[in-house]
Parts: sequence; structure tokens; C-alpha cells
Amino acid sequence: MPLEIQLPGQTAQSTGRVVGIDLGTTNSLVAFVENGIAKIIEGRGDERSSSKLVPSVVTLDDYGSVVAVGNKAKERSTQDAQHTVYSVKRLMGKSYQDVKKEAGLLTYRLVPADEGLVRVQIGKKLYTPIELSSYVLVELKKRAEAFFNEPVTRAVITVPAYFNDAQRHATKDAGRLAGLDVLRIISEPTAAALAYGLDKTKEGIVAVYDLGGGTFDISILKITNGIFEVLSTNGDTYLGGDDIDRRLMELFITQIKYMTPTFDPTPEQMQKIRQIAEKAKIDLSTQSRVMIEIDLPEAGVSYRRNLTLQEFERVAKTVIERTRKPCEDAIRDAKIDVIDIDEVVLVGGATRMPMVKALVHEIFQRKPHDELNPDETVALGAAIQANILAGETKDILLLDVTPLSLGIETMGGMMSTIIPRNSTIPTKVTETYTTFVDNQTGVEVNVFQGERDFVKDNRHLASFTLKGIPPLPAGAAKVEVTFLIDADGILQVKARETHTGIEQQVEVKPSYGLSEEEIDRMLKESIENASTDIAGRRLVEAKTEAQRILAATEKVLGQLRRGQLPVTAAKLKGINVADVIDALYALRRAVNGDDPAEIAKQQSLLERATEPLAREIMNAAVAEALEGKTVEQV
Ligand code: ADP
Ligand code: MG
Repeated sequence: MPLEIQLPGQTAQSTGRVVGIDLGTTNSLVAFVENGIAKIIEGRGDERSSSKLVPSVVTLDDYGSVVAVGNKAKERSTQDAQHTVYSVKRLMGKSYQDVKKEAGLLTYRLVPADEGLVRVQIGKKLYTPIELSSYVLVELKKRAEAFFNEPVTRAVITVPAYFNDAQRHATKDAGRLAGLDVLRIISEPTAAALAYGLDKTKEGIVAVYDLGGGTFDISILKITNGIFEVLSTNGDTYLGGDDIDRRLMELFITQIKYMTPTFDPTPEQMQKIRQIAEKAKIDLSTQSRVMIEIDLPEAGVSYRRNLTLQEFERVAKTVIERTRKPCEDAIRDAKIDVIDIDEVVLVGGATRMPMVKALVHEIFQRKPHDELNPDETVALGAAIQANILAGETKDILLLDVTPLSLGIETMGGMMSTIIPRNSTIPTKVTETYTTFVDNQTGVEVNVFQGERDFVKDNRHLASFTLKGIPPLPAGAAKVEVTFLIDADGILQVKARETHTGIEQQVEVKPSYGLSEEEIDRMLKESIENASTDIAGRRLVEAKTEAQRILAATEKVLGQLRRGQLPVTAAKLKGINVADVIDALYALRRAVNGDDPAEIAKQQSLLERATEPLAREIMNAAVAEALEGKTVEQV
């Protein structure tokens, strides 16, 4: 056995400490488990009301030094907007192209870097979102170290359920940069369910409603013997408590202008009014009226008014109502009825509003869990997972993770990931694919492991063919591919055609045969090649999809010329064929170029032109095939 060296002030056990971190868009927190109870670690010497939360805000100077993080940075944002970075989570794992259209909504500058990845420019310096997030993580790490009075080097970090592998990867890299060994990335709704101990329910469906500062997420989870399966996610990436602050702020400014018509607020004054608005909103979660006082002597403004809860709710209602449809969509996508949901959990600071609780109660027809502070729930769950990994909790099933992503090959040799790297196992994920050519009666399923975007760069695990698919036009057959990894890491892959129910399956052992070094090498390569892969992937995907649509459209035009379409003349009336042909040529030109955005644009124009026709044909064809006839004459 190797000798253990004990440093002064450090017990052998202390190296085992693992904290849980909620790295939020608006606020971040760090938590741990003590005597079986999860607790948030508070900031020391911090008299501010929300000393548990670290606002995810960083102030930098022109020379690349961090001036302030958290509450101090948030306060400074009033005076120094150009040097203050917030909402970095929106940029994690994204290319410049991905976030270009959002740039106008942020007050700091986004620039493309050579490899297409996005950077934030402050002064002359460029920062990656990973670096910027790491500053927030360093702040949380320091907090934990001050609390324990010893180094903290291991953590579990949460991410939204919809985060893809690149975004999870970026989050993990941010941790590494902050000097943290990230033992596990877990989904926020899973963490919230853990915080409420719902993993111990033998079986159940849980809805997690998360309304934060700037994002809304709804996730529906299925829990079976401690296994979490995400049935569906939905939400709005630009909806949250901040929208309510803005509306209140607009209300105040309009009224101030009514009394002082010359009032034209500076960015600093706006920020001040926004802070007053946010405070009023927060106070109205526990009070029925608040006094608003806005004093801006330099602008001759002294505004006073009473704001009742009733008036406030009239302002907030339209914002909050926007969460209804994503919830309904998530329920539908999960293929369940609202009455099938056993528990509803509230997450996010904005769910403290009585009006939000009432809306959630109404939508889900059940009282949501609000026993924990909703803005702390995710961090508490992360701490519970951390404690499991540290080996402190013996009574919970120790879940393992997949070291590399698992997926199948799709058109153009692309890797379609089904189970992302670092997913907790056992796990089960189903994705639906469709056929690429007309009358395709078999689908080859090639299973791969790895992080690269093209399967040729990944490791081939297994192949099999699903035969006996009814001959249908391309895109009409639906093949569900299910990956199931059991507790021993054995992967089962099943493919099933949904119209006929025919299925085929194979068993694979994914991680066996890969050494630690091989895993490390594959991860390293995926980091180094991430940006070339992103660009290549976007183009191949765009071209593949466009070619499929071109082929289908050409076929239909041919049939139309020959009068062979299974659609009645009456239904063809509204279709302008010249428009379809124009759009077809434009898309063909775009496919020969190498601009994915142009391809996407022309493709959607063509789709719009052919949409009514396509619908009629598809309906006719599916109906025929299911009656056992072939559609060769279609
Ligand atoms: P995120 O997950 O986006 O980082 P949080 O869960 O911390 O964000 O939520 C932040 C939002 O919650 C902010 O808009 C904040 O104003 C709001 N909030 C915090 N406390 C309350 C409260 N008591 N009542 C209403 N809104 C609140
Ligand atoms: Mg959050």
C-alpha cells in the first residue's frame, strides 16, 4: 500500500471532500453535505442579503485582470457596464455563429476567434466563456476553502438537461481551469429531484419547473429504482425574472417621464431603476405592498409611489403566462398525461413569487414542492451527488458514468450521439431517426463511441441491420433507436420501426478494452479538434439534409409532370409550381457552395413552397403502406 503523507492541517479524510456547485446563468452556489444534510456554504464577511448566492458576474479591467466577481461585480455593473460580463452560461460550448444573433442582447462584445468559437472582448483582451466561468468557480472554490479551512479540489457541477456534449465539456473544462477536478456533471432537474429525495421513490414521474433570472426550463423525468430518465425538456432561453424587472422598470420610467418630460435616463440611471424594480419584485413575494422611492437629484427626479401586489401581478402576468405552453409541450413530448405526473418541483429564484406557484399548481393540477429554497435546490442536489461520489453515503446506489459518448452513424458519416459522455449509468435513451431514400426496407445501425463529429474519428463498437421496414417514401418511416446501459456498463442497442413494430437488437460492451490513456487521448483530441469539427459538421449536415429534400422535390415534380401523384387535382390547386422550381434551383446553387447558413435559408424557402403538397403526398403514402400495399407507383 502506498504511504499516505499528511500535510499540516489536513487529515487524510479531507482530501475526500467533494462539493456540489450550481453554476447558474444569473447566480451560482456551492453546497456540501454534513451529517447527512445538504447545506449551502455562505460567503463570509458578506453582509448582503443574499450571501448564499454568488451572482455569475465578473468585472475585468483593460489589462486582463479580474477586478471583482459576484456581488461586488454586480454592484459595479452600474458604473462600469463595458467591463462587466454576465450570462456567460449562454455562451458555453457555442461557436460565434451559434450566438451571433444574441449578441445584440448583451452589453459586452462578442467576437469570433480564428477557429469560429466565440470570445468575449473586454478592452483589448479576448476571453473564452470557459475562462470567464472559471472565475465564478474560483470564487465558489474560495468560499468553500474559507469555510472548511482547507483546500477543496473536487466538485460535482450541474448543467441544464438540454446541454449537449460540447456544453457539458466546456463546463467541465471551466472546472479544470478553476483548479477543480470535476467528478461528475449532472443535470439540474436531476439534482433538484435528488434534493427532494425523490430518487428514493421506487417509481414515478417528476416535473421540474425552473424559472431563473433569464431562462425558463421545464423537464419531465422518470425515476425507476434510482435511475433518472429525462422524458422531455422544453423552455425558453429568454424568459425569466429579469423580464419582470424590465417591465416594472418601464412602468416607473413612463410615470417619471409623465411628471418630468425631459427625463432621459442614462445607462447608469437605468441600472439603478432596474435594481429598485428587482427589489420591489422580491419584497412582493412576501408582502402585499411596497413603497417605491427613486431619487435621481441630478435629473431632478424624486419619484414615490405605493405598489400593491395586485398591481404588480398585472405587470408580471404576461411574462409568467409564457411558461404555460412549454409545460404543455413537454407533457405532450413525454407522451404522458398531466395526471401521470407524481411530483412537481419548483426551482429558480423567480418561483418564489406566489403567482408562479399558483400557475404551476394550475398547469400540473397538483401542489408543487416548495419546502426548499428554490434558488438553492439544484446546489443542494449537487452536494448530495458529491457526497455519494465521495463515498460518504452508503445507502444510495452508487451510480457510475459513461467515459465516452455513445451514438450511431447518420448520413454523411456523422456521429449522432445518443448517450453523452459522463451520463450516469444505468441509463436509457431513445432517439427517433428516419429513412433517407425512398422504399428503403432496411436500416443499418452502426454503433460508435467517442467525442468527434465524424464517425471515422471514433471507435466502432457494433453493427446490425433492421430489416423488413415497409417501403415508404424517404422520411416517412420512423426508426426508434434505444440505447440502454445497465449498471455493469453493458450497452444494449435496439432499433424499432414504429409503424410495424419490427425490432432488432444487439449487446455491446462499451468501455471495456479502452484504457484510461486511450480515453484521455480521445478526450484530448476532441478538445483540440472541436472547432474544425463544428464547422465541418454544420456544412455536412446542411448539405445532406438539403440533398435529401432536393431529391424528394425533384421526384415529386417528375410525378406531377406525368400526372402520377396520388393526390387529387382539387388539392393541387393552391400550389404554384413555378415558385417550387425557382426555390429548387436556388437551393441547388446553395448546396454547391459552402455556406451552411445560405443552404438553411434556401432550404426553408423550398420547404415553404412545397409544404402543402408534401403533406398531401405523405398522408396518402403512409395510409397505403399501412394497408399492406406497396407505394412503388407513388
Ligand atoms: P439562475 O438559475 O438563472 O442563475 P436564480 O435561480 O438564482 O437564477 O434566479 C434568479 C431570479 O430569481 C432573479 O430574477 C431574481 O430577481 C429572482 N428572485 C430571487 N428571489 C426572488 C423572490 N423572493 N421573489 C421573486 N423573484 C426572486
Ligand atoms: Mg438555475
